[in-house]
Amino acid sequence: MDLGIKGRKAIVCASSQGLGKGCALALAREGVEVVVNGRAKDVLEATAEDIRRETGMRVTAVACDITTPDGRKTILDACPEPDILVNNAGGPPIGDFRDWDEAAWQKAVNDNMVTPIMLMRAVVDGMSARRFGRIVNITSRSVKAPLAHLGLSNGARAGLTGFVAGLARQVAKHNVVINNLLPGPFATQRQVDGLTRLAAKAGQDYDAFARARMAEVPANRFGTAEEFGRACAFLCSAHAGFIVGQNLLIDGGAVNVTL
Ligand code: NAP
Repeated sequence: MDLGIKGRKAIVCASSQGLGKGCALALAREGVEVVVNGRAKDVLEATAEDIRRETGMRVTAVACDITTPDGRKTILDACPEPDILVNNAGGPPIGDFRDWDEAAWQKAVNDNMVTPIMLMRAVVDGMSARRFGRIVNITSRSVKAPLAHLGLSNGARAGLTGFVAGLARQVAKHNVVINNLLPGPFATQRQVDGLTRLAAKAGQDYDAFARARMAEVPANRFGTAEEFGRACAFLCSAHAGFIVGQNLLIDGGAVNVTL
């Protein structure tokens, strides 16, 4: 299917690896010029080159911390009029609620709620004036079903979700649509790091621990960044203009709910 977004411009935050990279690659495959981002310059440059080589598209690498005002300015200077914005950042650490002091909460709220809100604030009016905009926020299944060890994510991302529910309905009439993609377990570096810590805490071997986690997923596996990216590209497509303010779980059936 032609997604109808050839020649569009996208900012994909936190995209030098993992789910963000999957989104950037999928958009570039559809003929979108992408700005990729991450803090480690060498990893980011290598990713940009991979995407250029595979798609032949123009890929701009912007190394900065997206959770800071300076970082956000840098990326917006590189692409002042994006048609597509994919919001993403590193997730908060796992732990127990007793571990998280006020500074930890301020950081989680800044990184996973205020940062995407500030970026949407910066681009939404331009998208509305140009009568095309697609925004996807990468959140988490923890928004639908809380994960005890991810309280910072449960809380901060729920705040973003509430804000998006309102904003999406304000701007949809301008063909600017905002949706959230809620990943379940994906085989990315973050997932491996998290499982390594949980396996160690449980005193178990990593492979056995990971296999047991996969067995809890109805699809009996972890997702891939590639399939996550394809779903994101569809939500950014010309055909997604009537999908407004939704929270799409992409989790292999892991969250056991009817709706
Ligand atoms: P990942 O494999 O660790 O990749 C994270 C990417 O974000 C890297 O490119 C990293 O590059 C970049 N990044 C992190 N902090 C950044 C910052 N402050 N500024 C700019 N770039 C930054 O993680 P992932 O698994 O793709 O996860 C992406 C998001 O989805 C996270 O918020 C995570 O919590 C959420 N999520 C993931 C899963 C899963 O199963 N993977 C499930 C639910 C939710 P640098 O480190 O070089 O900056």
